[in-house]
Amino acid sequence: YGDHRDLHSFPTDALPICISSQKAKSKDDEMSFANKEKTKYQKLYNGLKKAQALANIGHWELDLINDALFWSDEVYRIFGLKPQEFGATYEAFLNHIHPSDRDRVNNAYIDSLRTKEGYHIEHRIIRQNGEIGFVEERCEHEFDDLGRAVKSIGTVHDITDKKKAQNELLLSSAVFKKMNDGVLITDEKQSIITINKAFSKISGYSLEEVRGKTPKIFSSGWHDKFFYEELWDDIEKKHQWRGEIKDRKKNGQLYSAEITIIALRDEKGTLTNYISIVNDVTKKKEQEELIHNLAYFDSLTNLPNRVLFHERVTNRIPVHKSNNKKMALLFIDMDNFKNINDTLGHFVGDRFLIETSKLIKSAVCEQDTLCRLGGDEFIIMIENIESLMEAALAAENIVKKFSDPVIVDKKELYSGVSIGISIYPDDASTYEELIKAADTAMYHVKESGKNSYQFYKQSMNEKVTNRMLIENDLRNAINKDELYLEYQPKVDLDSKTVYGMEALLRWEHSQVGLIKPDMFISIAEETGQIQDIGLWVVKQAVKDIKIFHDKGHDLSISINVSSKQLDNDSFVGDVCKIVDDIGVDKSYIEFEITETHIMKNVDKAMAILNELHAKGFKLSIDDFGTGYSSLSYLKRLPVKTIKIDRSFVLDIDKDEEDRSIVATIVAIAESLGKEVIAEGSETRSHINALKLLNCNKVQGYFFSKPLKKENFEEFANNFNMERFFA
Ligand code: C2E
Ligand code: CA
Ligand code: CA
Repeated sequence: YGDHRDLHSFPTDALPICISSQKAKSKDDEMSFANKEKTKYQKLYNGLKKAQALANIGHWELDLINDALFWSDEVYRIFGLKPQEFGATYEAFLNHIHPSDRDRVNNAYIDSLRTKEGYHIEHRIIRQNGEIGFVEERCEHEFDDLGRAVKSIGTVHDITDKKKAQNELLLSSAVFKKMNDGVLITDEKQSIITINKAFSKISGYSLEEVRGKTPKIFSSGWHDKFFYEELWDDIEKKHQWRGEIKDRKKNGQLYSAEITIIALRDEKGTLTNYISIVNDVTKKKEQEELIHNLAYFDSLTNLPNRVLFHERVTNRIPVHKSNNKKMALLFIDMDNFKNINDTLGHFVGDRFLIETSKLIKSAVCEQDTLCRLGGDEFIIMIENIESLMEAALAAENIVKKFSDPVIVDKKELYSGVSIGISIYPDDASTYEELIKAADTAMYHVKESGKNSYQFYKQSMNEKVTNRMLIENDLRNAINKDELYLEYQPKVDLDSKTVYGMEALLRWEHSQVGLIKPDMFISIAEETGQIQDIGLWVVKQAVKDIKIFHDKGHDLSISINVSSKQLDNDSFVGDVCKIVDDIGVDKSYIEFEITETHIMKNVDKAMAILNELHAKGFKLSIDDFGTGYSSLSYLKRLPVKTIKIDRSFVLDIDKDEEDRSIVATIVAIAESLGKEVIAEGSETRSHINALKLLNCNKVQGYFFSKPLKKENFEEFANNFNMERFFA
């Protein structure tokens, strides 16, 4: 606490102040006067004492010069002290104030000395026996001629009963006791003061078991810390929170409760209590669940119904999409159900379906979703399959289960199953299409003899069918406007700029969805379609770079060219015409040719590269390090840039060998006067390692994935390299 003595000096010549300064005349007079005065004061004093006791008010005086504190009897009574137990100093007084109120009282006192005004404060005290009391204090000061405080005089009013009555009123109110809602009251430190009957009933705890503990004892672990952070934030700001909490009963059982928590403050705004009003909604929840079950589960087999299945699959599709994973739907139809139902009746039919559902369930994994679509149709969703074999295996297991008869009422009922399988995203990308595909596949099984399984055509013999699809549909991809380019930024770490971009081809197939170039470029090369596609790419990329140039971006563009394109004698003429027609300086256009392609026929490549170089195009060797270039060839090739293959970048921050390969490539390039760029730079530590090796041009996911045209522009406009390292 601050020391009140700092606020005034202790003048050594200062005299204690006398209350009475009446002058006596003679010694006799003096005596009788003194006696008279004494009895008068005695009477007065006794009267005052009585009045103080009646009013529960005591008074005190603090002599600031001698640091002597006087308390009236009533003050001693209020503090529950005997005069001999009390050190009668200001510090001793502070020690009997409730620790939470001490600073407030001390500050009020010091402030009032400074402002020379009295103060009025309510605070708690700790009585000698440990009991807490409430007092109301008033105080004023006396000052000497120099304005120095010499004395403080105050009154202490015991208002404990009044305060208690207020609290009692709240706690013992009929409302509190008889409320159907549970009520829990804590002090400002969240220590539980009381709970009502209803709360005991909900939580299973008695008052004795929870008193003095915090409500954390009810915590179920259901909610995360953010939930509670938000809750307390609300209480802080709005003095109130309302919401649903899952808590735990004494017996461990979880229950859902609608809870209102109110932060109670006194007139001065000081937090005094928290009150929680708790409404057990477990019953309501159970009813909701029942309704939910009726809507989402098949009442005969208790399996998820069509509605729930639809919801699950639809929810899981985006997850698989973003994780690049496959899922399988197995459409199951019983081969002999109609016969069983017709000849043995509905009752047996139903029992048969229940047994069937159990058999199917036993054939698949726990996490697979099995549902009854209706009638004798079931469907299964198998998530995250690595290969089609997993789906095939599940189907085979189910078929096997039905090679033995199903027993109902000791009757042996024989029925095979027909299963059709569709795969996301190979066969379709929506729920409806996937179901339809699986259904179609199932009909194929029925037609070809039942009791077996089949994949939907497109994914049945994955390789063959995919290839057919690509070959067929690629022919029309350009006409149908299904091709587009994405651009991946190239960043110069030295100048901290985006200096260029690589054009990467994309095919948005109307049914299959996005097809990456790895899937179709080699097929296009084999069928010769690459010629048209390649020229389409050049045209599109040059058009786009023209737009960027017109907008003031000083960017160069790289275009991938496969060896099959270079083999075509008209390639150089064709690209020159395109570029000249659009009107772009050829030095801004770079062709990327893979090292392997060059090395396949070095002489031929050399001739055509020289031709392109002569026309003013830039050239770069792609995927460098994977082919077998020799230094002597490299020297002769008219390439400007060497693009280090991403396989060397992948572990460059961990693998010593990769690091030395990259260091060597950088050194060779430097000695030949060529630039290097590292592709596949995915992380900050890749970038740091590359920088150390003096490779200052990079391309990769760290800065950006390939972007659509508009997004690339936005990226280039807002590029700030520092931000990536912040
Ligand atoms: P590439 O020339 O080596 O292209 C770089 C590939 O790496 C791109 O795949 C790109 O998306 C990907 N990539 C970029 N940064 C990173 C990274 O940080 N980490 C990883 N893991 N990958 C990254 P994309 O677009 O699938 O292209 C694959 C290949 O297809 C290209 O390899 C290229 O050889 C060929 N290609 C793409 N577009 C064309 C084209 O228009 N014509 C020809 N002939 N081939 C093309
Ligand atoms: Ca490339
Ligand atoms: Ca590459």
